Amino acid sequence: MKELKTLKEKGLLRVIKDHCSPQGRIITIQGKKYINFSSNDYLGLSCHPEVIEGAKEALERFGSGSGASRLLSGGSVLHEELESLLSDFKRVEKALLFNSGYSLNVGVIPSISNERDAIFSDELNHASIVDGARLSRAKKYIYRHKDIAHLDELFRTVKAEKKIVITDGVFSMDGDIAPLRDLCELCRGKAILYIDDAHGTGVMAKGKGTLEYFGIKPEQWIIQMGTLSKAVGSFGAFVGGEKDLIEWLINTARSFIFSTALPPSVIGASIAGIKLIKKDTSLIDTLWVNRNKLAQALNEAGFNTGESQTPIIPIIMDDIESASGLSAYLSEKGIYAPTIRPPTVKLPRVRLTVTASHTDEDISYLMESLKDYRG
Ligand SMILES: *Cc1c(COP(=O)(O)O)cnc(C)c1O
Repeated sequence: MKELKTLKEKGLLRVIKDHCSPQGRIITIQGKKYINFSSNDYLGLSCHPEVIEGAKEALERFGSGSGASRLLSGGSVLHEELESLLSDFKRVEKALLFNSGYSLNVGVIPSISNERDAIFSDELNHASIVDGARLSRAKKYIYRHKDIAHLDELFRTVKAEKKIVITDGVFSMDGDIAPLRDLCELCRGKAILYIDDAHGTGVMAKGKGTLEYFGIKPEQWIIQMGTLSKAVGSFGAFVGGEKDLIEWLINTARSFIFSTALPPSVIGASIAGIKLIKKDTSLIDTLWVNRNKLAQALNEAGFNTGESQTPIIPIIMDDIESASGLSAYLSEKGIYAPTIRPPTVKLPRVRLTVTASHTDEDISYLMESLKDYRG
């Protein structure tokens, strides 16, 4: 295949590297141990005893598969319990579960928009938002990253029945935070604001997310989604908003209607994960201590970490070869930190994610290795 050959030649081929250990601080790939700096399991909850116990209990009580979509017979009281935990945690009227963050965005975005509407999307939004917008019939406008003036300018020129602004809360490849205060000001009375908080959930504002970080109360024109697959240590996603929105989604979001419900064990793990986050924020505190330690060390050493403000810290490089070279060097040193290449990002980078599970030694060892590499 010619196209595949071109990918290889350009150094853009993606390959899977599965590990044979639990997801955690240390992972084993092909018999070799690595300190893992590429996990979104920010709090280490995927291996937390209470989360594992939650999954086990649900598995034993309700079995393995859920057998059908939610609207048929696939849902259990656990699904309902998790949704009410989430709506309470996020202080929204209602929450609805989807099978993943990806499936949520490609389901919800088309369901809340039609051909008379306009979607305004930050240029660095996650691919699932891009795909959701493509599946919708709305007109699409991409605004420059976090550029409120640009968005305002588009707002003035575009006529639409309904305007929807979509943004990541925390941007997944740069680790910077969306200017939600300004976005809210601009959208109030004029547009719906849709926030993808995949990396904000369980991380920002004691886990409650990016909107809460800005001290903004949920409102009827704000739609928030979050994932259970990252800081919550489980799998799946939720959308939160007013009651009518959720009822509308149950009736129209195709990825909700036409897909089998999440299995009970996954729901059991998510319930335990959310309960842990609600009860005790010490893991989140540790996450931020580690984050600040690593970010400060990287900046002091003169690495280009872009606009990072969160546990996602890219080391931005000039070209793909340098980024791949650094990842390969780190890999030799037993540090797992893969390269993110175009077209996923504009500038190639080694994307580091630091978690609550990392030790001071892990961070020092990473820094020493980085400095050695640079010579
Ligand atoms: C990871 C991610 C998703 C997709 O979530 P999954 O549960 O992994 O499908 C959606 N949006 C953003 C911003 C993400 O980082």
